[in-house]
Amino acid sequence: MIVHLKESVDQETATDLAKESDSIVLKNGQQTILITPSKLKELPLNLEEFAEDFFVTDSDIQLASKSYRSDIREIALDDVKFGGNTNNTVVIAGPCSVESVEQIDQCAENLTKLNLKILRGGCFKPRTSPYSFQGMGLEGLKILAKAREEYGLKIATEVRDHSHVEQVIEYADIIQIGAKSMYDHGILKACAKTTKPILLKRGFGSTIQEFVQCAEFILSGGNPNVILCERGIRTFENKSRFTLDLCGVAYLKEHINLPIILDPSHAMGVSYGVPDLARACMAMNIDGLLIEMHPNPKVAKSDAAQQLDIDQFNDLFESIEPIASVFGKHLI
Ligand code: PEP
Ligand code: MN
Repeated sequence: MIVHLKESVDQETATDLAKESDSIVLKNGQQTILITPSKLKELPLNLEEFAEDFFVTDSDIQLASKSYRSDIREIALDDVKFGGNTNNTVVIAGPCSVESVEQIDQCAENLTKLNLKILRGGCFKPRTSPYSFQGMGLEGLKILAKAREEYGLKIATEVRDHSHVEQVIEYADIIQIGAKSMYDHGILKACAKTTKPILLKRGFGSTIQEFVQCAEFILSGGNPNVILCERGIRTFENKSRFTLDLCGVAYLKEHINLPIILDPSHAMGVSYGVPDLARACMAMNIDGLLIEMHPNPKVAKSDAAQQLDIDQFNDLFESIEPIASVFGKHLI
């Protein structure tokens, strides 16, 4: 249950009430909120005089639930807005890994040409092998920061573990938590302490419930700006790298108040399937897409098979514009 306390309730009383009811206290501007265990279905007597309003939730999906807020949250990065009532579908694109200034420049130039606003690129890569490229680290973050300055783009980059989380939070406009790091509580805690948007990817072995509960750690820790990203889950099927869970997306749209973006690149794992999948994603009227794009995918240091080259990306872009317009949306 989520309880909005009356404005007259001071911090000390709120803390005492939280202790009595095994709750978390969350301060949201002027509003003080208690989040009790979700099994509570009726307002306890001792909270009655302090409560202004309360919301019953089905499960430990609480702050992210539409039982709490029926609208999709708007998450704004200046003029780039996810969710809410915007008529935007945000296309985040760029290479899997930042590899050089030239590579990032070529990607940034292309995004600018298409009037897209968010450049992605990983600098701390969570690889499946210790012998693969692990990312450029801080040097990569500096390359992204330079592109932000030169092209006026926003930067999305991922954090692999808590050792560099503060550095990523400092440099990035959007902090991506990768599928393999979804459950890293050091990262989740650090991401709760900023208000920068967090792009939380679904762990490929996680249920929707587990995925959204990870978002709850960030939300209940004080950061209301979480964007969910479905990027495919592991199933028995092995002809594609993962299986993009569009049913899960339909569930999220119905029950969850966070913006949703889809990543067909990592789901498919091979470039030929990405454009068709991207169009299928767009047909679900989602808040954004994440696509891997590289000036020369053949030489990419990570995820080479799935990245689109610039021409392929531009063709995809052109083909999804009319789908966005069916929903009265435009791509940014
Ligand atoms: C990525 O975005 O490059 C990435 C590593 O994605 P995921 O965490 O979904 O595997
Ligand atoms: Mn990748």
